[in-house]
Amino acid sequence: MSQLGYVATPPYSQAQSGMGRYQGNLGLIPPVQSMYSHYGGPPQAFSVPPQSGVIMEPPVSTATGMPPPPVSIHYNSNIQQNGALPQRYPAPPAGSATYGQPSQYNSMASQASPPIQQLTNQIHDMNLGSSYVLQAMQSPPPVSSVAQPPLQTAPVPATTQPPMSPGPPRSPHTSPQMTQTQLAQTSMGMASPPMAIGMGRPFQGPPGPPSPGPGGFQQLGPGYPQQPGQVGGQMTGPQPGFPGAFSGAAVQKPGPRKKLDPDSTPSPTQVIEDDQAKRGGQVYATNLRGQVPPLVTTQFTVQDQGNASPRFMRCTIYSFPSSSDLAKQCKVPLASIIKPFATLPKNESPLCLVDHGETGPIRCNRCKAYMCPFMQFIDGGRHYQCGFCNYVNEVPESYIQFLDHMGRRVDRQERPELCLGSYEFTTTLEFCKNNKRPNPPAYIFMIDVSSSNIKSGLVRLLCNELKALLNNLPREDGTMSSAVNVGFVTYNKILHFYNVKSILTQPQMLVVSDTADMFVPLLDGFLVNYQDSKDVICNLLDQIPDMFEDNNETDTVFAPVIQAGLEALKAAECSGKLLLFHSSMPTAEAPGKLKNRDDKNLVNTKTEKILFQPLKGVYEQLSKECVAQGCCVDLFLFPNQYTDLATMADVPSHTGGSVYKYSNFQVETDGKHFLRDLRKDVMKNIGFDAVMRVRTSTGFRASDFFGAIHMTNSTEVEMAAVDCDKALTVEFKHDDNLCEEPGALIQCAMLYTSVSGQRRLRIHNLSLNCVSSISELYKSCETDSLMNYFAKSAYRAILTQPIKNVSETLVSQTAEILAFYRKKNNPSPTGQLVLPEALKVFPVYMNSLMKTAPLVCSTELATDDRALQMLAVMAMGVEETQLLLYPRLIPLHNMDVGSEAVHAPLRCSEERLADTGMFLLENGRSMFLWLGQACPPELIQSIFNLPSLAHLTTYMSALPELDNPQSRKLCFIISSLLQKSPRSMNLQLVRQKDDSERLFRQCLVEDMGVYGGHSYMDFLCLLHTEIRQLLP
Ligand SMILES: [Zn+2]
Repeated sequence: MSQLGYVATPPYSQAQSGMGRYQGNLGLIPPVQSMYSHYGGPPQAFSVPPQSGVIMEPPVSTATGMPPPPVSIHYNSNIQQNGALPQRYPAPPAGSATYGQPSQYNSMASQASPPIQQLTNQIHDMNLGSSYVLQAMQSPPPVSSVAQPPLQTAPVPATTQPPMSPGPPRSPHTSPQMTQTQLAQTSMGMASPPMAIGMGRPFQGPPGPPSPGPGGFQQLGPGYPQQPGQVGGQMTGPQPGFPGAFSGAAVQKPGPRKKLDPDSTPSPTQVIEDDQAKRGGQVYATNLRGQVPPLVTTQFTVQDQGNASPRFMRCTIYSFPSSSDLAKQCKVPLASIIKPFATLPKNESPLCLVDHGETGPIRCNRCKAYMCPFMQFIDGGRHYQCGFCNYVNEVPESYIQFLDHMGRRVDRQERPELCLGSYEFTTTLEFCKNNKRPNPPAYIFMIDVSSSNIKSGLVRLLCNELKALLNNLPREDGTMSSAVNVGFVTYNKILHFYNVKSILTQPQMLVVSDTADMFVPLLDGFLVNYQDSKDVICNLLDQIPDMFEDNNETDTVFAPVIQAGLEALKAAECSGKLLLFHSSMPTAEAPGKLKNRDDKNLVNTKTEKILFQPLKGVYEQLSKECVAQGCCVDLFLFPNQYTDLATMADVPSHTGGSVYKYSNFQVETDGKHFLRDLRKDVMKNIGFDAVMRVRTSTGFRASDFFGAIHMTNSTEVEMAAVDCDKALTVEFKHDDNLCEEPGALIQCAMLYTSVSGQRRLRIHNLSLNCVSSISELYKSCETDSLMNYFAKSAYRAILTQPIKNVSETLVSQTAEILAFYRKKNNPSPTGQLVLPEALKVFPVYMNSLMKTAPLVCSTELATDDRALQMLAVMAMGVEETQLLLYPRLIPLHNMDVGSEAVHAPLRCSEERLADTGMFLLENGRSMFLWLGQACPPELIQSIFNLPSLAHLTTYMSALPELDNPQSRKLCFIISSLLQKSPRSMNLQLVRQKDDSERLFRQCLVEDMGVYGGHSYMDFLCLLHTEIRQLLP
């Protein structure tokens, strides 16, 4: 590039004080072509067809209209009893999240219950009248075996429940209202091995009577050593394709072995399919209070009729326990997951904007709740009673309207705030900072041009992309262009600001080398409208890669870069987003300098939490300042080694930002993946400088908040930005008893600055039921939302507690929730594991959570990756946590290429794989294409254009798009999944038995964890034993 016109600026890589100016002859502007026409197209729904070769259960009836169960009779006495039980596992003090206290969970070794391996289980779905029989089988099991009768029933006669055939009289032990799943104990031996587990303690069979069954359960002494990382003890036995690879103790036992049929455990994929079959394709109207919405995996259309769409708000439970005692005993966390900016499908109405004029939005004088369908108009329409605090307010003169014979306003259907669950208000100046209308937000692109980013090709790729991408900055609905301004900074040890004012013919560079006291060297011309300055900006983006091509600087600064962006937004008096494209841990002498503190010796110790705690000081202060300014920080990280991500991601994770990590980035393999992320990030709908308040009706209140947020007091949630993918989870606690009649009302009000610079209020209202019936309570639970809550609360607990305690707390919480139900609702003896219908797959998700990277204490996993997942989950909505905890496993070798339908996902277990198969697995963060060893050459040929598996390089970044039906179908499936996902995923090819298989196998969440952790079946047994300890 030309150095002509270069004024008073030393070489870029050299530190200098003060500022210089750069005026290069930057050449002609290349024509910019829009590459984004397809972004505007309608999103293609990725639909799982209900009929796809998997046998479907009949829809579960809701049991409405049934008489109430006879549980309330026992209720009061048991409340007393519950607190006074001589339990080995004393119930934690009040409240469902008990991380604050030391865990009281004890080792299984000391329990006086039969060996869990002796459990043979029967599962009855009471409501269906159909039965699953969890049975013993010879090893190795056929994947689709014909059910056999259980070999032997339980020794305790009362526990025995005969397998139910469709339509027989119901068992006298079960109340007909209940829909639940039971695992009944029998005495059949099950030769599952003793095994090491990833919960920081040995998994030991409890002492008890020796196994009478065949197969011989071997009792372990308390000293059985933990075997971290052992891949063994699969109850499924060796797979033909994996001789010895997964050999556990039991597998090595000679002779025939009894084992449980994995098909008999409650199946997450079946639950998903059933819900899709029952509620998919339908219109879900939100007119009913306490209505449980379809699952997040189900495709449905929402019609707002007075409650917020489940896309905006989901709850762990839709019928709150009416008394605080009941809430404390049932242990079901009361929480709502709120995604205020959730993207709505095209066929659902966008939010209405309500203008109440000069007076501003009408709100209760006492509790400040905003006008909503929960306000009761009285006195001929001249007053209204607040649904939240019951205060009687006067209706403003201009808002008075007649009431009809039902006491409802006659204009209620014309006013969104009276008939809808979600809407927006325009605001008055008093809602604006300093009583001043905000300026439109700005996006500042801050590019690390140290040698690593130059050599990997990142800088060139990014600059090239931005020229087109900046045409697609977010804009207000109905406007032609974006009001968002843009600015550019490059840096390594020093910072270069660019003047890209439209009247310039060439961009100007201004250098700041004093990183200790960051300031912005120019105000006019730094933040500009892209369309106005397009020529100068494209000129700059063309030149940046060449300017730094020979840069050998490897050291970088980081905190000063954020500080610089923040100062620029302050100077421009606007909110906005900093997009940092950063290569390495900041080691240059400057504020926020970091050093390697990745100590693997800490893993699996009490002080492991230190690894995940961000360093205090500079970054903590920066977070506060960023939030105060409405400055969101997105970090795109391209590291080649450890970067102390826990600290580097601290500011993004408190400012509503996102962190993306591309280890050992190379343009050829990771370029497309990065660009997909970048495009989604830049274009997504977002609000800035947000303050959120969650108001509730009397008797309960919001008590805790989880998310990419900042709290300065206990009630106001501050978010520098909130985009369409960010969700926060709000936990509620009882203050008092709740009345059943008015229900439990929640109003989430978020004040924010829109992408066009308008100050708006977004309101989401939701009404829930309040019940004292335990069966109603458990029926209204939502497993996916519960898991979102548990994931966030557990990950936050990692920062303050030993990980072992966190996992143990999760086990005891699961047991407590199920034990209380069991105690209150099923009079049959304790030999059965009873799972309420709505929670029947809760254990498999809970077990999966405990096997996620942050919670497994394995030195094999990179600390940065664990920290990244921890932070990412904190901002996830329910869809994302569901998929993360139960990945989608799609068989591809038997694709129906004649249709667009995709095979229904299979259960995540090795059992479902086949040597001759090809499977796609994705969890929203990773995507794998698994290829069986005996995958037919024709299939390999049609997908990869290669003669055999041996020719395949696993570093392929994308599949070739070939002109044959198999290739087209697979590419379609992958692109549909990527389009739907908030994040891009790089397709990883995994050949059966390759080393890389471990990461894939970690996603088979029903199996024993690769880095430790129970199999699903073992976890059920563990849980059963835990629950027995809690029962009288
Ligand atoms: Zn009120």
